[in-house]
Amino acid sequence: MSQTFPNYINGEWVTGPTFENRNPANTDELVGLHVKGTAADIDAAAAAAEAAFPAWAGLTGPARGAFLYKAADLIEKRWDSIAADMTREEGKTLPEAKGEVGRTINILRYFAGEGSRMPGGVVPSERPRVHMWAFRKPLGVVGLITPWNFPSAIPAWKLAPALLCGNTVIMKPASVSPLSAWRIVEAFHDAGLPKGVFNFVCGSGGTLGAALINAKPVKAISFTGSCEIGHWVHAEASKRRMRIQLEMGGKNPTIVLADADFNSAVANVVNAAFFSTGQKCTATSRVIVEDAIYDKYVAALVEATKKLKVGDGIKPGVDIGPAIDEGQLKTNLDYIKIGQEEGAQLLCGGEHLTGTGPNGEDLSKGYYMQPAVFGGVTENMRIAQEEIFGPVLAVLRASDFADAMRIANNIPFGLSASIQTSNVSRVFDFVYGAEAGLLTVNLPSAGVEYQLPFGGTKDSSFGPKEQGPAAMEFYSDYKTVYLKY
Ligand code: NAP
Repeated sequence: MSQTFPNYINGEWVTGPTFENRNPANTDELVGLHVKGTAADIDAAAAAAEAAFPAWAGLTGPARGAFLYKAADLIEKRWDSIAADMTREEGKTLPEAKGEVGRTINILRYFAGEGSRMPGGVVPSERPRVHMWAFRKPLGVVGLITPWNFPSAIPAWKLAPALLCGNTVIMKPASVSPLSAWRIVEAFHDAGLPKGVFNFVCGSGGTLGAALINAKPVKAISFTGSCEIGHWVHAEASKRRMRIQLEMGGKNPTIVLADADFNSAVANVVNAAFFSTGQKCTATSRVIVEDAIYDKYVAALVEATKKLKVGDGIKPGVDIGPAIDEGQLKTNLDYIKIGQEEGAQLLCGGEHLTGTGPNGEDLSKGYYMQPAVFGGVTENMRIAQEEIFGPVLAVLRASDFADAMRIANNIPFGLSASIQTSNVSRVFDFVYGAEAGLLTVNLPSAGVEYQLPFGGTKDSSFGPKEQGPAAMEFYSDYKTVYLKY
C-alpha cells in the first residue's frame, strides 16, 4: 500500500482525492499519492495564513528563527531518507539529492540567523533632536510556486526568508515532485510551528495558481519555473498590483578560450551540461569555443560525454538519471531531430535508451536518454536559442573573445554564464560584459551557494533577487520613522 501525503492547511493534515507521484527511473514504482488540492483549499489556506499573520509577525526575529533552526535539525536527522525520496521522485542521483538536502539545511540555518540581523538602521538627521531610522516589516500572506528540478532547495530558499521576515505562507509545489517539499512541511509541523503560518497545497498548477493569485489575503507571489508560465503569472498578478518575483528559464553559455586550463574546461562543461540530466536552470546548454582549440576541445568533450553512465540514480556508479517525465524526454528527443534538421552535427548521444543500465536496471521502464553533443551549431539555430532543459549541448565556434561574448549575449535569456580562461583581463571583460545574473569563472556554470543573491536578467527573471541578504528585499518592506525628542 502506497502512502498518501495530505495537504497542510491551518496546522491540519487535509485529505481528499489523490494523484500519483511515480519514479521517473522506473515508472512501475509509485513513490506516493498526494492529495489533489482545489481552489477552495487555497482559499482556506489564505484565510488561515491571514489569521495567523499578526501573531507570527509579532514574534521577534530570533524567535521566528528558532523554528527554522528546529526544522533544519529535524531535516538533518532525516537526511538520508529525504534524499532517497528525492531521487525516487525526481530522478537525480543519490549523491546529488544528498547534496541538495544539505543545501536545504544550510539555507534554513542561514535565514534563521538573519532573524538577529534584520537589515535597517539609524542615520543622522539634518535637524537637531530628530532621530530617524528605517526598519523592515513583513508583507502579510505570500504565495510560493515552485518547480520540480530542485524540489527541496527551491521551496526552502523561498520559504525561509518569507517566514523569517514575518510573513505567513501558502506553498504550491510542482506536481511531478511534491514529496521533497512535503518533507519540509513535515519538519516544520514537527518543530511546532504555529497553525496557519505555513500552508501547503498540492495539485494542478493552472487551478491552484489562479486561485493563489486571486486569493485576497495574498500580497505577493514568488514563482520559479518556465518563462511561459512565469509570464502568465506576471500578467495575472499585475492585475492585482501584487509584489511579484519570477525566476525562469535560461540558455546559459560557457565560453572556452584557448588559454584555459584544458582539462578543467572539459570537466566543468560536462558537469554543467549533463549532471542532474541537464535539468538545472543554470546548466550550460551552449559552449562557445575559441577557434584555435575548437577541434581538440570538441574531441575531448565528446570523449568525456561518451563515458557518462546513464541509469537509475538510486544505484551506485551512475552519473546521470532519467528525464523527469515522458513530456520532457519527448522534448529532448524532439530537439535532437530539430538540431539535425537545422544542419548541426550530432557528435554523440541523443538516443532514447531502453536496454539494460549499468546496474542491470531495465531502462525501458524509465525516461532515459544518452547525453548529446551537437557540433557545428550556429547562433540562430533553435538548439542555440531555445531552452531544452535536458542533456543536449550545443557547441559553437567563435573567432576570438569578442566574437564569443557577442554570441554568448545573443539570446533572450540572462540567467547564468561562465568563462574558462587564465587571462585575468578577459575575466574582467567577461564579468562586466556578460548579460547574465550569475557568473562563474573556471567553474561549472551551475552550482551556486545560498549566501549571495541568486537570479538572472533579461527574460530569465523579474523582481528582486532570491537568496543571500537580497532575499529580504522581496519578503519585506521598509518603514521609515522621523522622531522629534
Ligand atoms: P513550470 O511548468 O513553469 O511549473 C512551475 C510551477 O508552476 C509548478 O508548480 C507548476 O505546477 C506551476 N504552474 C503551472 N501552471 C501554472 C499556472 N497557470 N499558474 C501558476 N502556477 C502554475 O516549470 P517546471 O517545468 O516545473 O520547471 C522547469 C522550468 O523552471 C525551466 O524553465 C527552468 O529553467 C525553470 N527553473 C528556473 C529556475 C531559476 O531560478 N531561474 C530554477 C529552477 C527551474 P504543476 O507542476 O502542477 O504544473
